[in-house]
Amino acid sequence: MTRPLRVRFAPSPTGHLHVGNARTALFNWLLARGQGGTFILRIEDTDAERSTLVSEKSILEDLRWLGLDWDEGPDAGGPHGPYRQSERLQLYLSYARDLISRDKAYFCFCSPEQLEAERQAAFAASQPPKYSGRCRAISFDDASKRIAAGEAAAIRFRVPDARDVTFADIVRGDVTFNTNVIGDPVILRSDGRPAYNFAVVIDDALMEVTTVIRGEDHISNTPRQVLLYEALGFEPPQFAHLSLVMGPDHAPLSKRHGATSVAEFREQGILPEALVNYLTLLGWSPGEGQEILPAAEMARRFELANVSHSAAVFDTGKLAWMNRHYIKEADADRISAMALPSFLKRGFVAHETDLARQYIESLLPLAIGSVDLPSEIADRVAFVFDWRLDRAVALLSAEAEADGPRVIAALAEELWPLGPLTKETFRAAAGRVKDKTGLKGRALFHPIRVALTGLDSGPELDLSVPAIDRGAMLPSSAGVPPIPSCADRARTIADKLRG
Ligand code: GLU
Repeated sequence: MTRPLRVRFAPSPTGHLHVGNARTALFNWLLARGQGGTFILRIEDTDAERSTLVSEKSILEDLRWLGLDWDEGPDAGGPHGPYRQSERLQLYLSYARDLISRDKAYFCFCSPEQLEAERQAAFAASQPPKYSGRCRAISFDDASKRIAAGEAAAIRFRVPDARDVTFADIVRGDVTFNTNVIGDPVILRSDGRPAYNFAVVIDDALMEVTTVIRGEDHISNTPRQVLLYEALGFEPPQFAHLSLVMGPDHAPLSKRHGATSVAEFREQGILPEALVNYLTLLGWSPGEGQEILPAAEMARRFELANVSHSAAVFDTGKLAWMNRHYIKEADADRISAMALPSFLKRGFVAHETDLARQYIESLLPLAIGSVDLPSEIADRVAFVFDWRLDRAVALLSAEAEADGPRVIAALAEELWPLGPLTKETFRAAAGRVKDKTGLKGRALFHPIRVALTGLDSGPELDLSVPAIDRGAMLPSSAGVPPIPSCADRARTIADKLRG
C-alpha cells in the first residue's frame, strides 16, 4: 500500500539559510503542494555548540518570506512532534538501547585521542578513515561494569560486514556502497546526544516521511541510514539527492562568489517570488520552454523524476533578470517602499512621509523596466532631485550643441508663463520652440533634455518633465528638499548662457 506523501526539510540552525538549502526546502514544498502531501519542518539542533535559537528564528523567517509554508513544525505543531531534535533525546536513547539489547549496537570506550590517532594513521596510509572496531568485542556485561565504574561510553552501530547496500535514488538511479568501506558509526555520543545519521532515521521513520529530498552532500550518509532502517525494523523512505548549487567556477556556492544566503538576497532587494522562481529552475524545468511561472503552477507541474543530476550553477545575472521581471509585475506601493531607503540615503527625501512615498511611487514608470533592484530606482530618477546648473551648462556648451542656447532661450520664454507641465502642455511648448527656432528632432530635443535633466540621456521627456514639475509642487511638509521646476531650470540656464 502506498503511504500518503510526507516530506520534510530538516535544517540545522547553525547560521543563515543558504540558497542551496532554500532550494532543497523549495523542492520539498513543490512536491508536497503539487501532490497534496504534507510538508514537515524539523529543526536538527543536536549540535549544541553551533545551534542557536536566533538562527532557528531566522531560518523560519526566511522560509516564510519565500512563501514556503509548512504543515507540521516546531511552531505549527502536529501529530508527530516535538519537531526539534533537542526535545527528542529520550526517543533516541530508547532506540539506541533497543539496538544494544539486540546486539546491533555496542558500547564504545575509545578516547578522542585514540580515535584521532586512528584517523591520522589512515591519513598517513592514504586510506579513508574508518573506525577500527576496537570495542566491537566488548561484552554487554563488561561494558555495563565499566560504565557503572564511571567510564564514559558512546554507542556504536554494528555495521554488517562485506555487504552491498543499494538504494534507488529518484534523481541518480541505483546507488550501491559496500559495507566494507563503512566503519561502525557512533549513534549516541557519551553525553547522550544522537549523531545525525541516527536521529535522522528515527525522526524520518516516526514522522512517517515517505520521500527524503536533500543535498547530495548526504549521499554517503544514506547507506548508513538504510542499514539503520533495517536494524530498527522501519520501512525506509524513497531518497532523492539534489546536486549541489555551484558558483560559476563549479565550486560549491560560497561567500567568495558573493551573496549566498536568502537574507542577503532579501537585503539586496531580490523579491521572494523572483528568488523562488529562479531556484525552481536550478535543476528542474517546468517544460514548454517556460521559465517564469507562479510557484503554485510550478508545484502542479513538479516531478522529482525530472530533476537533473548535473551540477546546478547559480547565475546571478539570470536572477537579476528575473527580479527585473517581477519588479515590473509587483504593486507599485510595494516597490516604492523598497526603493525609499535609497532615496533617504541620497538625501532626495529628508524624512519619510505619505506624500514622499506617493511621489516616489509616481516616479516608478521612469525607472521600472531598466532596474534589477529597487535600490537602483533612485539613481535612475536622480535628475529630478539633483539637477545641477554647472553640469547642464557644461554639456550645453559643448561644440555639438551650437544651437543649444537658442533652443533654451526660446524654451525659457515658453515655459515661463505656464503652470506645472503635463505631457500635453510640454509637447505644445516644445512645438512652439520648434516653430520659433526652426529646429527639430535631436537638435531640438537634446538641448531641452540636457537643460531640464542635466543629463545627456535618460527616461522619456514626456514622463520626466511632468515628474519634475510634480516634484516642484510638493509642499515642504512632504519631507522632500525643494525641486526646481522645469520653467526655473530653463530660465536659470538661459540666463547663464546669455550672461
Ligand atoms: N540537518 C541536515 C542538514 O542540514 C539535514 C540533512 C537531511 O535532510 O537529512 O544538512
